[in-house]
Amino acid sequence: MNAAGVAVLIAALVAGNGSAAVPVAPARMAKLKPAADTQVDVRILSKHRPARLRLEGPRSLEVVASGNTLVVEGRPQTSVLRLDAGRWHVRGRGVDRRYEASLSLEARDGELIVVATFALETYVAAVTASETEVDTPFEALRAQAITARSYVLASGKRHDEARACDLTHCQVLRGEGFARHLLRARDAARSTEGIVLHLSDGAIALAPFHASCGGHTAEPVAVFGAPDLTGAAAVPDRCPASPWRAVVPRALVSAAAADALGGPAQAADLLLDRDSSGAVVRIVDRASGRDARGDAFFRALGARAGWDRIRSARFSMTLGGDQALLEGQGHGHGVGLCQAGAALLARQGWTAEQVLAHYFPRALPGKLADK
Ligand SMILES: [Zn+2]
Ligand SMILES: [Zn+2]
Repeated sequence: MNAAGVAVLIAALVAGNGSAAVPVAPARMAKLKPAADTQVDVRILSKHRPARLRLEGPRSLEVVASGNTLVVEGRPQTSVLRLDAGRWHVRGRGVDRRYEASLSLEARDGELIVVATFALETYVAAVTASETEVDTPFEALRAQAITARSYVLASGKRHDEARACDLTHCQVLRGEGFARHLLRARDAARSTEGIVLHLSDGAIALAPFHASCGGHTAEPVAVFGAPDLTGAAAVPDRCPASPWRAVVPRALVSAAAADALGGPAQAADLLLDRDSSGAVVRIVDRASGRDARGDAFFRALGARAGWDRIRSARFSMTLGGDQALLEGQGHGHGVGLCQAGAALLARQGWTAEQVLAHYFPRALPGKLADK
């Protein structure tokens, strides 16, 4: 794609989707045929919310957010600070990261809003490194790279400031991190360059992944709603069960259900509708008759109790006294590529293509330019 084509694509992405907690990608976006030279802009340091950063790279400078004013090397600046593409070392309180990107910085309420713009393949390599364990076999890294590339191209713009954030909400991006692992991730990205998963209508699959399905992946429509944009399907998996249990206050369950249902609810009135994999696909409030998607309930529980405690949507619930016991399997939403399973299959000799065919039976890998 030439520069004008990229500009049209970016403009379309900016005008498009808006932020969305669940994957939503109008097919017309994916059909704009992004090419491998597409750039990806990411809001970085989303969790750190830095007020002061030291940047080293093509230039060396200190940047401070003073209210809504950006102060660069002690001088207030009236516009957004844009820094050329290069290898940047970004340091601040709790921050020590390296990015190969161009950067833009602005100040908002005493916080630095930092957006890094990456070449697509640089982004894919960095996400692949961030999202996998150091000992992940190479074919599993290749499967992860194809999945991450597909996801970011299909997802459109999910944030006001940028297409993606650097947290699990989008795809984790920790900067360059451990050098040897990054080198393998780069090789995985390079050896799959420009390859994405396509749906049967030619759109790029909004291909999700998760840490561990716990023995069975989830049906995408049950988790994210229709129409399916992922190309995934519920399949049995050989990964370990990864059981978890959490005891939470009954009032917390009631509050999470109220969040999901959009009205008051009591834990005792809830009916959990689970699919054959054990995933909660729907909750019903027997008092009001209202229902909500299981994914919304899972997210509300995680937001209130902590994601480290509510690890997956595959769980059962038992009420006792003021408490609720949740017992589940897996880690993550369970849809699409299971990272634990992909590593296991790759160790058994499966190729990335075979791994992807297992988790995404309704999608086919192909070059971006082919479509
Ligand atoms: Zn995000
Ligand atoms: Zn699995």
